[in-house]
Amino acid sequence: MSPISVPFLDLKAAYLELKPEIDVALARVLDSGWYILGEEVEAFETEFARYCGSRHCVGVANGLDALHLALRVLEIGPGDEVIVPSNTYIATWLAVSQCGATPVPVEPDPQTHNIDPDRIAAAITPRTRVLMPVHLYGQPADLDPILTLAREHGLRVVEDAAQAHGASYRGKRIGAHGDLVAWSFYPGKNLGAFGDAGALTTDDSHLAERLRVLRNYGSRVKYVNDEAGWNSRLDPLQAAALRVKLRYLDAWNARRAVLAASYDKALAGLRLERPFLPDWATPVWHLYVVQTDNRDEVQRELNARGIGSLIHYPIPPHLQQAYARAGFAAGDLPIAERLAARVLSLPMGPQLESAALGAVIAALHEVLS
Ligand SMILES: *Cc1c(COP(=O)(O)O)cnc(C)c1O
Repeated sequence: MSPISVPFLDLKAAYLELKPEIDVALARVLDSGWYILGEEVEAFETEFARYCGSRHCVGVANGLDALHLALRVLEIGPGDEVIVPSNTYIATWLAVSQCGATPVPVEPDPQTHNIDPDRIAAAITPRTRVLMPVHLYGQPADLDPILTLAREHGLRVVEDAAQAHGASYRGKRIGAHGDLVAWSFYPGKNLGAFGDAGALTTDDSHLAERLRVLRNYGSRVKYVNDEAGWNSRLDPLQAAALRVKLRYLDAWNARRAVLAASYDKALAGLRLERPFLPDWATPVWHLYVVQTDNRDEVQRELNARGIGSLIHYPIPPHLQQAYARAGFAAGDLPIAERLAARVLSLPMGPQLESAALGAVIAALHEVLS
């Protein structure tokens, strides 16, 4: 039995590491007397756009809203189809459904876990409007063939970058390869707030301008509503905290990369599959995901040794009760289903210390050898 217990992720430790700066930032907002949008949100938007190498950033309330508003600003609605990965977090699908449009799943490359560009063309119909790749686990999806398909078929590309803050595709930061990029700052993400928060980045000034209107009741001028919008504004308290954490993002991602390299080395030879890295990807290790045949047993045995782990995700969207009426059956998307049965996310985060990492590795050697 290992003497220490290792949580999957320690969010409080992340706060404590930056506590003096975070507390000052939050106090600044409280003292300002200004609590909706305003300077703090604008400053974060400017800084995050610069970080991503995109021309614009629009802060919103959460990642799901970012995805949803991306589709709304592209005028996606009933009768339209949006191509999504079969093995994503359900938010990607729900954003499409919220518009009254239909999510059309495409299976991932079993090696990268990201949407397989070679399978997308077969899923395109005259109703297809948008391709929606997800940079799952912090690994960039293969964007070049996706962007080429979009150009050939006159489609838009919306990236779900909720797990990919700081990742690069062929040397260029995720942030404006597609028409719109949707971000979540849910606390557990690589850039995480102290509550819900999200944003969109884009190089398109027209889309950015319309997003600012849509997130704020469809209003440009207070109490004048040009269209029926939403209330989905980034909270200035979260923006202030995110400005502090953005300054540490690269350093914290670098720590994750060191941990991932340690896992890779220490787990070689065990009966599990380690993450595969295509040469064009610079990932940010939001998650370190392994695959095993006896996943549930491995998770139980790790748990018995005080090691936390999670499954991302145990039920693919098409088999969720929420999509029962879409008419999918078990076996329809076998790659996603196989991943759901085999994936296991090991403890990963910038505050994971080497003794804890050693305990995870030792436990895996016991359980799997
Ligand atoms: C976290 C996440 C979202 C949703 O973000 P929220 O801020 O929780 O709404 C969307 N897509 C993916 C892939 C995510 O991991």
